[in-house]
Amino acid sequence: MIHIDGSFGEGGGQVLRTSLAMSLVTGKPFLIKNIRAGRRKPGLMRQHLTAANAASEIGKAEIKGNSIGSGELFFSPVTVDAGDYLFSVGTAGSCTLVLQTILPSLLLAKNSSRVVLEGGTHNPYAPPFDFLVKAFLPLINKMGPEVTSVLERPGFYPAGGGRFTVNVKPTRSLNKIDLSARGRVINQRAIAKTAKLPISIANRELKILKDKLNMAREDLIAEDVTGSMGPGNILTVEIESENITEMFTGFGERGVTAEKVANKTVTLVQKYLNSKVPVAGYLADQLLIPMALAGGGKFRTLTPSRHTLTNIEVLKQFLDIDVSIDQYDENACEIKINGQPYTMK
Ligand code: ATP
Repeated sequence: MIHIDGSFGEGGGQVLRTSLAMSLVTGKPFLIKNIRAGRRKPGLMRQHLTAANAASEIGKAEIKGNSIGSGELFFSPVTVDAGDYLFSVGTAGSCTLVLQTILPSLLLAKNSSRVVLEGGTHNPYAPPFDFLVKAFLPLINKMGPEVTSVLERPGFYPAGGGRFTVNVKPTRSLNKIDLSARGRVINQRAIAKTAKLPISIANRELKILKDKLNMAREDLIAEDVTGSMGPGNILTVEIESENITEMFTGFGERGVTAEKVANKTVTLVQKYLNSKVPVAGYLADQLLIPMALAGGGKFRTLTPSRHTLTNIEVLKQFLDIDVSIDQYDENACEIKINGQPYTMK
């Protein structure tokens, strides 16, 4: 059995999610202690518990310690049973992170799946739904599977209540991808969305983008979103290049001006554009699992985050892989993975 120390490195929810994801794929049982010990409120929160229970349902797993606040979890899956599922976080906890947990196994399963996820779809500190469909899933689809996703209604923090569907057509093994070069930037598009809030917030955010990123008026879109349970504001900037689409997000918050939200997002975009790398920080930690399962691949990215470094170590506990990080520039590095393509029995 694999023993995971949840306090390792980043010491957050990702250590647990990656362990669950890899356990499902490989069938290897694990015991994790000190879950989210690096966080202010350690242990399983609603989102992590939903992810663990979702993995358990798909894996017909034996599971112990799956209760709110638990600092320890035992997980031993039997199979990967693809099919129709509904997983509901029940709070505004991120349901894209629940997907992050179960998707790797569904990509390599024997049959297709249709998964409905409910909870937060646009949460700070989690992949927003837009990032999922514009940045992450296109790369997954390049690796062989066919994954599509449709948002039924957005769920913003703190009200939650969002819902989206994911359809997964799996593949036997994932193709390696090489993201060494970004290629030419083809398009830059910004969408500022407000729900149950004045659209002027979105317009103020877009004005900053127009001034600071020199974006054309037709690439700046303000959208009044309907169907949300509570108020919300999100600003996304999509950078579409020849080889990759990256997305940067600003989250509106009570007490934080629209200008501040936009300026923070501008800084992220400028850093990315100046660096010339194809993969930015969030995508970097999220690409590691599919690349490890593909048995190799490489990408150039910004200086690795703690999430990325932690994820590499967790992956190494489940798979026989080599990962090298070559810091070829002050702010940029190349991450290369070497292993064997994984096929589920
Ligand atoms: P905690 O750490 O409190 O347990 P958590 O379970 O939400 O929280 P983290 O370990 O912080 O999890 O992982 C967050 C995940 O969300 C990472 O995979 C990170 O790449 C991703 N993420 C965070 N913010 C964004 C963003 N703006 N765009 C895309 N992905 C994001």
